[in-house]
Amino acid sequence: MSKVLIIGAGGVGSVVAHKCAMNNDVFSDIMLASRTVSKCDAIAATVKEMHGVEIQTSKVDADNVPELVALINFFKPKMVINVALPYQDLTIMDACLETGVHYLDTANYEPIDEAKFEYSWQWAYQDKFKEAGLMALLGCGFDPGVTGVFTAHAQKHHFDEMHYLDIVDCNAGDHGKAFATNFNPEINIREITQKGKYWENGKWVETEPLEFHKPISYPEIGPKESYLLYHEELESLTKNFPSLKRARFWMTFGQEYITHLRVLQNVGMTSIEPIIYEGQEIVPLQFLKAVLPEPGTLGEGYSGKTSIGCQIKGVKNGADKTFYVYNNCDHGEVYKEVKGQAVSYTTGVPAMIGAMMMLTGKWMKPGVFNVEEFDPDPFMEQLNIHGLPWNEEINPELPHDYD
Ligand code: NDP
Repeated sequence: MSKVLIIGAGGVGSVVAHKCAMNNDVFSDIMLASRTVSKCDAIAATVKEMHGVEIQTSKVDADNVPELVALINFFKPKMVINVALPYQDLTIMDACLETGVHYLDTANYEPIDEAKFEYSWQWAYQDKFKEAGLMALLGCGFDPGVTGVFTAHAQKHHFDEMHYLDIVDCNAGDHGKAFATNFNPEINIREITQKGKYWENGKWVETEPLEFHKPISYPEIGPKESYLLYHEELESLTKNFPSLKRARFWMTFGQEYITHLRVLQNVGMTSIEPIIYEGQEIVPLQFLKAVLPEPGTLGEGYSGKTSIGCQIKGVKNGADKTFYVYNNCDHGEVYKEVKGQAVSYTTGVPAMIGAMMMLTGKWMKPGVFNVEEFDPDPFMEQLNIHGLPWNEEINPELPHDYD
């Protein structure tokens, strides 16, 4: 029985609020706080209507540490689930340290004026959290998040040594819009338009944006063109599983999406350099975000599935072995359950499960951690219970070249 404060009332925040309310044996009191309180109120009303649970709401500017501290001292949660934007990670971690509460997020810190995401800023909080007897769990969505748990599960149950990891992420859904991003547009477009990177033989190999692509066949979906991107979990997974010789991340994009993105990029709309427009400073990408559909509004009528998993090759008992573990999630089913879409759901459910792991003491130790540093078994068990069942294939033929 614990109080939890959820910060961020977007697509993911809504799913976290629903799922915490649906598990109120663990999350006895819930507050949802965000910059725009009307969004929190709308989510709270839907949660009450669908699950009969009251959640409190509040306005907070998560860039402002004193405001966060005042809210945390008022509500007195045991932990904060941060599903606002990566820009707010450090201010929320500071506020948690000041008030003595645990912390969880789903995306690593990124400075607003530089599209560069890496764990160094948050790993630097290790000593502070340890000394305070508090825990911070980083990157507990799906990717990062479940992909780290899947990799830890593979290491624990299927390999003596893992050598090759390919994370494959497919959204084969159709939301019926000409162009929309499935999570925060600003963060999404910053991620895709930057150079790609993968880990090979102890170093990072850089690629041009979306330079490498190939069709990968996804379960119950079929082949989809998949593009090599840099994704933040590659940094922690290559550190925590040093036997990996190569680690890559692939994501599908439709041709329509890529064409829109290319045009937007060519006309300067994805730039994060401020410009002066009619005497006012604006950032083109932030303006673009303001005119695109919000991820939390895409659920109605969204059809099709996502499929995200880890394809691994390594050695077990002296023999080569391949392994594939994945989850498929159906947009339509998600809408029925929590009025959301599968990309928000596959992020919000693991965030709720991570918080559950911490609050029930299954994953609890002082310091700053990535998910793969904990026992994957209790988390894997909860995925099956809370809407993200997983499947595994032993020794499948994998669509990658190996040395
Ligand atoms: P949305 O844009 O739908 O929601 C973001 C929310 O954060 C909005 O409610 C927004 O408020 C709020 N917010 C922004 N700035 C502040 C601030 N300064 N103070 C308080 N609240 C603020 O994004 P998503 O829900 O799609 O994504 C949420 C997070 O989840 C992102 O960090 C994203 O990177 C991460 N994510 C992680 C994934 C994973 O698998 N690990 C996958 C998908 C997303 P307002 O409404 O006023 O703008």
